Amino acid sequence: MSRRVWVLGAGQLGAMLQTAGRPLNLDVRPVAIDASEAPALDARDIVTAEREQWPESVATHALAQHPRFINSTVFGRLADRKTQKTLIDELGLATAPWAHVDESTQAADLHHKFGERVLLKRRTGGYDGKGQHWLHQSRQDEIPDNWHEQAIAEQAIAFDEEVSLVGARNAAGQCVFFPLTLNLHVNGILLGSVAPLPRLAHLQAQAEKMLETLLQHLNYVGVMAMECFRVGDRLMINELAPRVHNSGHWTQAGASTNQFELHLRAITDLPLGQPTIKGLSVMVNLVGTERNNQWLAVPGTELVWYGKEVLPGRKVGHINITHTDNAAIRWSLEALRPHLPSNYNEVIDWLVQSIR
Ligand code: ATP
Ligand code: MG
Repeated sequence: MSRRVWVLGAGQLGAMLQTAGRPLNLDVRPVAIDASEAPALDARDIVTAEREQWPESVATHALAQHPRFINSTVFGRLADRKTQKTLIDELGLATAPWAHVDESTQAADLHHKFGERVLLKRRTGGYDGKGQHWLHQSRQDEIPDNWHEQAIAEQAIAFDEEVSLVGARNAAGQCVFFPLTLNLHVNGILLGSVAPLPRLAHLQAQAEKMLETLLQHLNYVGVMAMECFRVGDRLMINELAPRVHNSGHWTQAGASTNQFELHLRAITDLPLGQPTIKGLSVMVNLVGTERNNQWLAVPGTELVWYGKEVLPGRKVGHINITHTDNAAIRWSLEALRPHLPSNYNEVIDWLVQSIR
């Protein structure tokens, strides 16, 4: 009989976990957060999540109460930016200076602490740049009313670029990591990734040490992602995601074990192994973009289409390309360019530039 793994949430991450489970004969079952019936859970089953937060429903209640809901205590702690940042500070890890926005906090207090530009982030529920609000001292912006007690404030970081580290820990405390990924965010949403880049290799040990500190402290089992700002040779944690992550999608094409399989191996206590990296990988996120089958005619492309309704700003798929020859990737990206909306010129240019 195959091992059963339930996933709290039935979006694209759950679907990709399911795909990754098949070759291992793991019966991975994503459950929609609004399902009105409780899944048929068995005591031997394992429960994981594709999201760090969920509304209370019959289904989410049943899954979250299961004795084998892996990392059950971690989700709440990381889903709230206040407790997440507190944890990062307690462990002495670098992160953007921040403050809680309480009832009496004034914009002037925040500018006094952090300078001209301050980023308010809602404590919970934000994603893809939603739930963020910039305050400019020169514009005399005010803190919106319903953001008191509901947000943290961060200093604006003049970073050189954004990188992320995806890694996993098993129950015995072993950790494995993928190489650092370079990410392009536009208006708070991830549009492109590249990995591995030789010029970032000297930061790998620093990044692994930071994420390993967190994983060990939390006794975490499975994949976690750490988004960082690179400021010179120093990494600062932007945020943590206790799950598989969009910036790890390139591993589907570029690693012998992808992040989804690595997560499943960790939570079902299979050997983690050390993923072999197959070459250089790029990922293009498809956001609010109608499907175009011409993408499939471009050599080397691997399309993952999520089958969701296409809405502005919504992640509806991604394209991975892996090759040992950077010129071949560049060629494929140029071949892809005319088949993407014109706002993707920026993404293609960035990818081409990044792999030079
Ligand atoms: P995700 O979809 O990754 O969960 P999110 O909407 O929850 O994203 P963040 O990752 O915190 O929010 O921020 C989104 C983006 O906004 C970052 O990738 C970065 O480009 C920018 N950003 C966030 N914090 C800062 C900061 N302190 N200074 C400058 N830019 C920032
Ligand atoms: Mg983020």
